[in-house]
Amino acid sequence: MEKLLNYIGGQYVPPVSGQYLENIAPATGEVFSLVPDSGPEDVEAAVQAAEAAFPAWSALPLEKRHDLLRAISDGIATNLERLAQAECLDSGKTITAARTVDIPRAALNFKFFATALLHFASESYHMPGALSYTLRQPLGVVGGISPWNLPLYLFTWKIAPALAAGNCVVGKPSEVTPYTAYLLGEICNDAGLPPGVLNIVHGLGPKAGEAIVRHPKVKAISFTGSTRAGAEIARIAAPMFKKLSLELGGKNPNLIFADCDYEHMLETTVASSFNNQGQICLCGSRIYVERPLYERFRRDFVARVQAMRVGDPADPQTRLGAVVSKAHFDKILTYIELAQREGGRVLCGGHALQLPGRLAGGYYIAPTVVEGLPLECRTNQEEIFGPVVTIAPFDTDEEALALANGVPYGLSATLWTNNLRRAHHLSAHLQAGIVWVNCWLLRDLRTPFGGVKQSGVGREGGWEALRFFTETKSVTIAER
Ligand code: NAD
Repeated sequence: MEKLLNYIGGQYVPPVSGQYLENIAPATGEVFSLVPDSGPEDVEAAVQAAEAAFPAWSALPLEKRHDLLRAISDGIATNLERLAQAECLDSGKTITAARTVDIPRAALNFKFFATALLHFASESYHMPGALSYTLRQPLGVVGGISPWNLPLYLFTWKIAPALAAGNCVVGKPSEVTPYTAYLLGEICNDAGLPPGVLNIVHGLGPKAGEAIVRHPKVKAISFTGSTRAGAEIARIAAPMFKKLSLELGGKNPNLIFADCDYEHMLETTVASSFNNQGQICLCGSRIYVERPLYERFRRDFVARVQAMRVGDPADPQTRLGAVVSKAHFDKILTYIELAQREGGRVLCGGHALQLPGRLAGGYYIAPTVVEGLPLECRTNQEEIFGPVVTIAPFDTDEEALALANGVPYGLSATLWTNNLRRAHHLSAHLQAGIVWVNCWLLRDLRTPFGGVKQSGVGREGGWEALRFFTETKSVTIAER
């Protein structure tokens, strides 16, 4: 059985305790590798390596830093197929998604921030008698903790800007999907990244993750994951006055108006509901349709969802792969039961799927559409994070807005209308960090990314990420 290792000071090392966790392939339910069950001792070694690397890394000329990050990007691109296979095996996501979304985006994250660091500028202010300017200096050692749904994609979304801004990093990928982060160390070494600049510690959230959060020398934590873990991290980090960026859960609404471009909306709504088995924080899980369009939408949407193929994630023809773990599989099925107890009608799906042969032990769920549930019920209030959506009609713009905003979360919202005034009005009043109008998941990496309410605090992406990973200092010089 392959044993993954931590990546500390440029070396692959076993966890100090010698303890490992099982890493399971969701497609089959079988253990395929072992993951270090790291603890505070491993984090301590990683922080020391990062601290030692920081003076030279932060002083490196920007062009050199750019070249190294660019070389990592190229290394990811060169290893695309190997990384895509690893991501597919580890997470149960389709090979097509891994090849076309996850791994290309991981390469792009490094390429984007490699370039951004060359153009990152700070402000100056002139007043009679004085000039003030702003320094944005790296923080030192920073932590990045990422989830399982877009493993390498989100891990690099934290690491790349942190390194670009001149910090050294201790990163922890999800223990559920550690494999591609494990391979990243090798790519960094091949690219010539100096030892200790990036360190990767594997293990459980409350153990290895919490040790990173608690470490006094870790100056900032960029976290993507559940609202529950985000709250725990905030509780620990706040009294230590660490910088925190928390990208948390969601319960995103889709508002569909009768004046939309119907075919484009329908196709995109199927994707925004079920891509990656509904396990994207930006998936829309509550679909509200203007009443004149509702019957048509329900018929066509359910027909398209029923036609989607659930199968072996490694097969390029598969539309939905496995959900990520047995625990998550059980959680999703519990929510489907709850939806029915709450009075919901299952229009399609609503059950697990048993696939034949070597896939028999895998975690497959039929894409599920539920109708007839009020806004206040748990199914419509709580994040399920699986292939389950609810649909409901609405009559007015005000009602649509109230439905969209009537949950504790506020990550993203999708709006389908050709009425410009309505698009502007609703975009301004939706309680969400991101609003897509007549599109979904269209990402310009320069735009700020993050949520409101229980979807988090702070923004990542573009300059926001570089600002987060730097400390701002104002310098004022008198003219005489
Ligand atoms: P999770 O919170 O269970 O775990 C995320 C990461 O945090 C893992 O690496 C985990 O080991 C670590 N962790 C858990 N508890 C910790 C603790 N007490 N201290 C330190 N680290 C800890 O989340 P998950 O189940 O891996 O991911 C799914 C969640 O992530 C969903 O809620 C989803 O909405 C959210 N998510 C949000 C975004 C976003 O951008 N807002 C993006 C992707 C996923």
